[in-house]
This record gives sequence, structure tokens and C-alpha cells, in this order.
Amino acid sequence: MNVLILGGTAEARALAAVLHDKDFHVVSSLAGRVAQPRLPVGEVRVGGFGGVDGLVAWLREHDVQAVVDATHPFAERIGANAFAAAEQTGIPLLRLARPGWQESEGDRWHWAQDLTEAAALLPGLGRRVFLTSGRQGLAAFASLDELWFLIRCVDPPEPPLPPRHEVLLDRGPYEVDREHALMTGHRIDVLVTKDSGGSMTAAKLTAARELGVPVVVVRRPPRPATTVAADVAEAVEWVLCR
Ligand code: NAP
Repeated sequence: MNVLILGGTAEARALAAVLHDKDFHVVSSLAGRVAQPRLPVGEVRVGGFGGVDGLVAWLREHDVQAVVDATHPFAERIGANAFAAAEQTGIPLLRLARPGWQESEGDRWHWAQDLTEAAALLPGLGRRVFLTSGRQGLAAFASLDELWFLIRCVDPPEPPLPPRHEVLLDRGPYEVDREHALMTGHRIDVLVTKDSGGSMTAAKLTAARELGVPVVVVRRPPRPATTVAADVAEAVEWVLCR
């Protein structure tokens, strides 16, 4: 059975490994945004498909029998394309999406609809910002010239950027002690994150709670209504039932 995994996440890599062991023919697809991505086992293709039409053509050409959209919760466009392509071809589609993070006692979270709203909240919350929302969309913060930013991302961020900033290139998993030290060392007084969920990047939230630092959490964009698995085991079950 041929399975396409739309990837770019730890869950996508874990799913590819399990299905590969079970002798499925798996192709993992990456957008090609990251210069040196962590690669899943098995076959990998890199780059966009060319919208819905391109994806439909690719699925037919490769005789795909099941698609798992395991992309990041904020990768909106590919999710919509996968949904439309599944509808057009009749190929079953599963969304593998880790749950969002949950606020707990001691947290000082402020929810924002998007990066623009996150930027608007910042001047009322702090002056030294730990910005961990990824390298795309940072133009939303570019006019905040009174604030200082520590911008952490995997690859160099796309300009325009806020004038007062330092870029830290790094990738998870992160540990609480190091996040604590990083935030203290840079006198961070507010953190910005997407509600990415998962354990790889959650340590900053624990460190922020311990330090009493407020956190601006950007809500997940809506995704098309399709069958959802919350973890890899559920996704494996779904594939086995195709
Ligand atoms: P996006 O806005 O949803 O997608 C933009 C375009 O990139 C899509 O229309 C598609 O091009 C191509 N694309 C995206 N994911 C692809 C995949 N897995 N395989 C092949 N083509 C893909 O996505 P994005 O937010 O730029 O994210 C790109 C990738 O990075 C995703 O795969 C995601 O899992 C990963 N990622 C994203 C974030 C984030 O915060 N957005 C964080 C961590 C990892 P065509 O229309 O030409 O097919």
C-alpha cells in the first residue's frame, strides 16, 4: 500500500518509521523550507506540489491509497490543499495533529488570534521579548522599535525584522534548565510562541512559569474538518484499517 505523509514534524518522522517497519511503501513529503531538515526513514520528496492540481496529479501518478497530513499545526495552506485533493480523488485523508498546550497554575498566558495581534499585545506586557514563533511572518513585529527581541529559529529569519534584535539559530528539543538560563541571561520579560503543542519545545513555557514571565500564545488557525488522530499510534491504526 502506498502512503503519502505530509511532513515537517517529529510526529511525521515517527509515523514514517513505524509504517516503514510494517512494510508499507511510504513517501514523506517536505516543503523544503529548512536548509538541513531532519529526514524521516524511507523515501522522501522535497518541495511544493504546485497547489491542489499538482497534488492531485502526484497522488494519481504514484497510486497513493492513503494520505496523512502530519504537517505543523500552523501549516494552513498545505492542509487545505490536502483536504481539497482528497475530496477530488476520493483518497482517504487523516490529519495527525498533536494536541495544543494547556495553561496550568502559575502561567500568565495571553491568547492572540495571529502574529499581528501578538505584536499589538507586546508593549503592554514587556520590553525584552523572546520571540519563538518561527522565521516566517516576523514583519508583524518590525515596527516595535522600543522593544528588544531575542529571535530564535532554525534558519535565518526573513526580513523585515524589528530594529533591535539578536538572532539565535537553534532547534529543539529544549530543556527547562537551559531555557531558564537563556531567558534570565537575556533579561527576557515576555515570551511569544505559537500554540505548537508537543514536548520538543514546551520547556520555554515551564521556564516562563517559573520566572513569572508572561507568554503571548498565538492560537492555531482552523483546519478543514477531517478525521483526526492525536498521536502516532492512532494514526498507525487508521492506516492499518485502510
Ligand atoms: P503552508 O503555508 O501550509 O504551505 C505553503 C506551501 O508550501 C504549500 O502550498 C505547499 O506548496 C508547500 N508545502 C507545505 N508543506 C509541504 C509539505 N509537507 N510537502 C510539500 N509541500 C509542502 O506551510 P508552511 O507554514 O510554510 O510550512 C512549511 C512546512 O514546514 C510544513 O510542511 C510544516 O509541517 C513545516 N513546519 C511549519 C511550521 C510553521 O510554523 N508554519 C513550523 C514547523 C514546521 P504547493 O502548494 O506548491 O504544494
